[in-house]
Amino acid sequence: MGGGGREHALSWALKRDAPDATVFAAPGNPGTAQLGTNLRIPATASEDLLAAIREHDIDLTIVGPEAPLAAGLADRLRAAGRAVFGPAAAAARLEASKAFAKDVLGRAGVPTAASGSFTVLEPALAYIARHAEPLVVKASGLAAGKGVVICGTRGEASRAARAMLADGAFGEAGSEVVIEEWLDGEELSVLALTDGTHTLVLPAVQDHKRLGEGDSGPNTGGMGAYCPVSIAAGGSALLERVRREVIAPTLAELARRGAPYSGVLYAGLMITADGSPYVLEFNCRFGDPEAQALLPLLPGVMRHVAEIAAGGWRPPDDALVPVRAAVATVLAASGYPDRPELGAAIDVPRDLEAGVLVFHAGTERTPDGTLRVQAGRVLTVTGLGDDVAEAAGRSADACEQITFQGKTYRRDIGWRDIARARAGAARG
Ligand code: AMP
Repeated sequence: MGGGGREHALSWALKRDAPDATVFAAPGNPGTAQLGTNLRIPATASEDLLAAIREHDIDLTIVGPEAPLAAGLADRLRAAGRAVFGPAAAAARLEASKAFAKDVLGRAGVPTAASGSFTVLEPALAYIARHAEPLVVKASGLAAGKGVVICGTRGEASRAARAMLADGAFGEAGSEVVIEEWLDGEELSVLALTDGTHTLVLPAVQDHKRLGEGDSGPNTGGMGAYCPVSIAAGGSALLERVRREVIAPTLAELARRGAPYSGVLYAGLMITADGSPYVLEFNCRFGDPEAQALLPLLPGVMRHVAEIAAGGWRPPDDALVPVRAAVATVLAASGYPDRPELGAAIDVPRDLEAGVLVFHAGTERTPDGTLRVQAGRVLTVTGLGDDVAEAAGRSADACEQITFQGKTYRRDIGWRDIARARAGAARG
């Protein structure tokens, strides 16, 4: 369910792990159409989806995006006796309400920025006046990654809080705000598969939220991601700390509240200077473009997804180890994220190098067969290699060869690890 690059990657991984499976995507995109059948149903039309699931006798439903999960799609399908991968609405609140997530984190004793949650402006302003700069002001609800304002001064923080609470910026999503201390460090994403009882932590991924190279410019839905990340390699102390100090206590607290979590839990973390993981946010689904980097590296992972949905899952004894390295670069339309220019014709050469995967996101196939830009993030181009630098080179070469008017992308996805590897080599 869904129609972005993540859902194309999920469909691709399903066909890899279960070649005989028949794949439907709702609504899908021209990429998923190459792997199966697109159903013209938006991911939020739960009754239409249920009817289609019955009509096509679909055994397993994987919900890609957060909005339908927050709206209770997984509950609806489970109540109808269908196997579904994705949390119930009560557990998806972890993403849909940052204030709820903060409360869970506090109760569970999970490290996170000190914060306050407010629905009324005056106490929010008083909180800002009492706390040190910089501050981060967040719309509590779902705001497609845009509801977070990093504020260098109290004045900016007050304006951001006023815009959300008094002036309706972000609408309903901003009717409650979380105001928190700013944390310095390196961001890291850790995703874990869970059926509520057992947990399988996946290799860590690092995404690149800013539009420009060197992590400059405005925040976006994500311009690229890579895996593995050397500071959190498989079996590393950091990944183990995340499992023990973040994932396990969060799942236990949700279960204690009667909202056990099943699906993939995505922890967005800040690793501070002393190497400690602090939670910035949770997502209740695979990330986009994190999925396009992660899934190609984990053969067999979709069998776990299917077994979690079906019930009776037994996680493997050993962690899933990335078979290679992957760098996923997003090709965006000009003007993204604010005013993407749509409609340009896209040319994807047929003879791209082996070791390159092209996932569709904001594309459409017009009746004359032309592939055109249909949304801000157009394609994700995943390069595979023996290390991050090689994968980045493959991704960059393919991004160069794919053409459309206004093509915008970062040529530095994975730069932190490439710099670390160079520094390591220089040290000898
Ligand atoms: P979120 O949606 O809460 O993950 O926030 C989006 C982005 O804002 C994160 O990926 C971080 O880059 C940044 N951010 C959020 N909270 C903080 C914080 N407390 N300190 C520093 N940066 C933050």
